[in-house]
Amino acid sequence: MENSKNEKVTCLIIGSGPAGYTAAIYAARANLKPVLYQGIQPGGQLTITTEVENYPGYANGVQGPDMMIDFEKQASRMGADIRFGVASKVDFSKQPYKIWIDDEKEIEAHSVIIATGASAKWLGLESEKRLNGFGVSACAVCDGFFFRGKEVAIVGAGDTAAEEALYLSKLCSVVHMFVRRNEMRASKVMQERVLKASNIRIYWNTEVEEIIGETKTEAVRTKNNKTGETQTIPVSGFFVAIGHEPNSAIFREWLSMDETGYIKTTPGTSKTNLEGIFAAGDVQDKIYRQAVTAAGSGCMAALDAERYLGEKGIV
Ligand code: NDP
Repeated sequence: MENSKNEKVTCLIIGSGPAGYTAAIYAARANLKPVLYQGIQPGGQLTITTEVENYPGYANGVQGPDMMIDFEKQASRMGADIRFGVASKVDFSKQPYKIWIDDEKEIEAHSVIIATGASAKWLGLESEKRLNGFGVSACAVCDGFFFRGKEVAIVGAGDTAAEEALYLSKLCSVVHMFVRRNEMRASKVMQERVLKASNIRIYWNTEVEEIIGETKTEAVRTKNNKTGETQTIPVSGFFVAIGHEPNSAIFREWLSMDETGYIKTTPGTSKTNLEGIFAAGDVQDKIYRQAVTAAGSGCMAALDAERYLGEKGIV
């Protein structure tokens, strides 16, 4: 019963991005009666993006938030029980596994599909927090539009930063790019594109000390970590592109993870180190991180769960 404090579930899905919803579609069609908790950000990272042009099946592209509404509707139509709520604690010491929702409700689950995704990393500056949404953003594709014709800054030197700097260079007059070492981590081809763009200015060995502005972003103060020289550069937008962090903290005690917290799965499957617990999408994938690959791995997780529950004689 949804309203009772304790509940037994055959297949619990945690997370509502492409991986979670796809797992729900497959699990519902296999009659596993999946219950899906949406988490802090229903719809996941695609709800903070704009046009998605690379998801097959949408011939004319689709807005990220609209796509996630379609995913949810489809999962719901198949019979998945989709609920608001955040998994706040788990006890995977024995089966059935225990999961607490919003620190209150306790669920016992025979199988669990973890599809909690990843979140953007931040520098950790007070000014970055204060000006978030007022010129500070972790998504160039979402917010670049607001800075058309203006000067912006971006911090980071991986493929994401390179991709976002190039995206911004097509909209903005100048893109100031801060790289903390004397080289970039991004792939060669991306680096070459960035270096070729006439309006991207790269600042090597440069760290961001402060984003300046009271109610909106006005400038950024940087420091060269070789010479100690500081500089204040006027910008209207400040983009952080320093990587992502998998949302796996509550599982840390129980599941095998790599050094950065990505859940380890047996290659070619969604199986974690605990039987009956599966992981799909960005929480276990730091390489591809695409909506379509997340959806594919959600499908794998539901099929793995179905096989497991069948073998155990639970369904
Ligand atoms: P990465 O972890 O690859 O890169 C993060 C970058 O941010 C690094 O250059 C790092 O610097 C820098 N950084 C981290 N913390 C700070 C900080 N506090 N201050 C300043 N700079 C900082 O993350 P990405 O998101 O770029 O990429 C993740 C994965 O996804 C990679 O495997 C990448 O190849 C892949 N990817 C592929 C794409 C594609 O193929 N089209 C597109 C986007 C991502 P440093 O180098 O000094 O550590």
